[in-house]
Amino acid sequence: MTPESPGRTRREVALGLAAIWPFGRRKLEIADTRLRVVARGRSGWRFLHIHGDESTARTVLEQAAPAGVSFFVESERREVPIAGGSIDPNRLFSHAGADRSLRRRNRQWSEAQFINAGLHLDHQRPKLLDALLPRDGGVLIALHNNGMGYSIETEIPLSQKVSFKDPARPGDFMLATSARDFALMETSPFNCVLQSSAPPPDDGSLSRQCALQGKRYVNIEARSGGQEIQRAMLDWLIAHLPPQQEF
Ligand SMILES: [Zn+2]
Repeated sequence: MTPESPGRTRREVALGLAAIWPFGRRKLEIADTRLRVVARGRSGWRFLHIHGDESTARTVLEQAAPAGVSFFVESERREVPIAGGSIDPNRLFSHAGADRSLRRRNRQWSEAQFINAGLHLDHQRPKLLDALLPRDGGVLIALHNNGMGYSIETEIPLSQKVSFKDPARPGDFMLATSARDFALMETSPFNCVLQSSAPPPDDGSLSRQCALQGKRYVNIEARSGGQEIQRAMLDWLIAHLPPQQEF
């Protein structure tokens, strides 16, 4: 039964949503901005739109409205603000990665500013990871867009396995951290790679954290404007990855 089912009281609906989203809040802090949380129905799926300038990915996730918990960054830009500077929100999931991203983007900062921003992120990170990372049996899917200069060919040297079925579309591909998920994904018509280990350097990305923690994670990359193929990859994953444990 879904939360929208007729006959359920408001309290029952609230309890149902609490079961899939036990954190209470509808917003999560990420650096000095927030992630909007949208919980729909009972499911082990989690979905993330983390780069605000990747509008194709945002539209795909909003229109697909899959059952599960979706997170949308409240920004139109790629970087998010922090302490008067900025950071890539997909580079702050480890201390080392965050420090590297802060130093690259805020060259005018003093050493004390780097240390203070790093401490702030260290304090924030456990809550953020606890909310974003799927429970056992669940999967986190992140949707990204890219332009020329980044493609599956960038990731192939870093990957343990590769399925390159559509060489005409190297910018459209999926990246998995679970070998079992990859074994299914390589039966799809889409390009995909497996990155189940996390060799140095530590870039602070969410995919690296998921590989380190043994979490099931899939990144769906599509060229900007490639709404149709990104939606097709999302629909394929929801239809074909193993059934999720409900929680
Ligand atoms: Zn991105």
